Amino acid sequence: MRLRNVRGAREAIDENSYVIKEPVKYKGKWAELFGNDNPIHIEVGMGKGKFITTLAEQNPDINYIGIEKFSSVLIRALEKQNELQLPNLYFLREDAAEITEFFEQSEIARIYLNFSDPWPKDRHAKRRLTSKEFFARYDQILAPDGEVQFKTDNRMLFDFSLEQVEEAGWKLTLTTFDLHHSEYAEGNIMTEYEERFSAKGNPICKLVAVR
Ligand code: SAM
Repeated sequence: MRLRNVRGAREAIDENSYVIKEPVKYKGKWAELFGNDNPIHIEVGMGKGKFITTLAEQNPDINYIGIEKFSSVLIRALEKQNELQLPNLYFLREDAAEITEFFEQSEIARIYLNFSDPWPKDRHAKRRLTSKEFFARYDQILAPDGEVQFKTDNRMLFDFSLEQVEEAGWKLTLTTFDLHHSEYAEGNIMTEYEERFSAKGNPICKLVAVR
């Protein structure tokens, strides 16, 4: 994804209380931060945050954490949250490769991956958020009945992801190659990328994986 440097984004994020600065300190203690034992759902690579913010508004009994490594996009999600001040939504400006440092075994109930970067070169496959290396990380933080939900319009990345689910020893509970025209379309919340690519006519693929 092409990123524009947003002046002052890093500083604004450093000062914002909705961004947790040292997430390792909350490992095993996220319920204390939220002040309740509600399930925690995370979105990895949430970009400008429309998806997770809408979910947090619609589901006050679920806690949400958005993880995004770039300040220049996270700042857009923060602009929304500064207005809404949802008590069930926080953000991390971190690389998801470190995710097992932030969350305890079983601390997370669901992981959303939306329009993740494809990393098209084979030698970068391990960086894809649906690689078996990432599934091994998700395995360490997800509750036994937890699930990973993934959407993309990139058919090559989707096919790779279907293979990786199997290689990681996980099972698919939902697979569609055209979400918007499927039985699963109802209630679907579109991400920024999803709006853009579905407007071009690209079919949206979705999978849900469990262990
Ligand atoms: N999910 C959003 C959507 O669907 O509109 C954004 C999609 S954008 C293609 C992918 C986002 O994931 C980027 O903002 C990128 O910075 C973020 N990202 C990619 N790899 C990441 C990682 N390892 N840790 C955290 N964020 C990551």
